[in-house]
Amino acid sequence: MYPKRFQDNGLSKYSYTTRILVKCPRCSALAQIVTADLHKISSDRKLVCTHCGLNKLKSSPGYGFSYKPVDPFFGELLWLQVNCCGKTLWFFNYEHMFKVKSYVEASLRENLRFSHGWSNRSMVSRLPNWVKSAKNRNNVLKAISNLEKSGKISLS
Ligand SMILES: [Zn+2]
Repeated sequence: MYPKRFQDNGLSKYSYTTRILVKCPRCSALAQIVTADLHKISSDRKLVCTHCGLNKLKSSPGYGFSYKPVDPFFGELLWLQVNCCGKTLWFFNYEHMFKVKSYVEASLRENLRFSHGWSNRSMVSRLPNWVKSAKNRNNVLKAISNLEKSGKISLS
């Protein structure tokens, strides 16, 4: 059997913020923060809730990354978060979650070499050590699978 491989695509954390799943500040249902222009990282962001109709716009917001499980633009609670190892594991969206999952699952981790050298800015290379730690692997995977099974995947 071949070991499970993971190849880092070098995408930074910012690449995963074009669509963020949050808890609607008005009705607590699943809402989304989307960007109008996928090619512009700092374009206007909209918080849209199809449940209660909330539609909030922020013009060219800056990033406010924090250690709290909130989105970097509106500061709303992230939809995908779960307790794990005494901390909170959180994701901007499912793509982000599945990328971290495949990273944690893999026993063989490869970095891609970029023209400017080895990338240390990619989202996975910047994961907290407790997420990368082999001793937490099973707990992290279990937490992600609980999140997957919690019925929260209801996005069209
Ligand atoms: Zn709402």
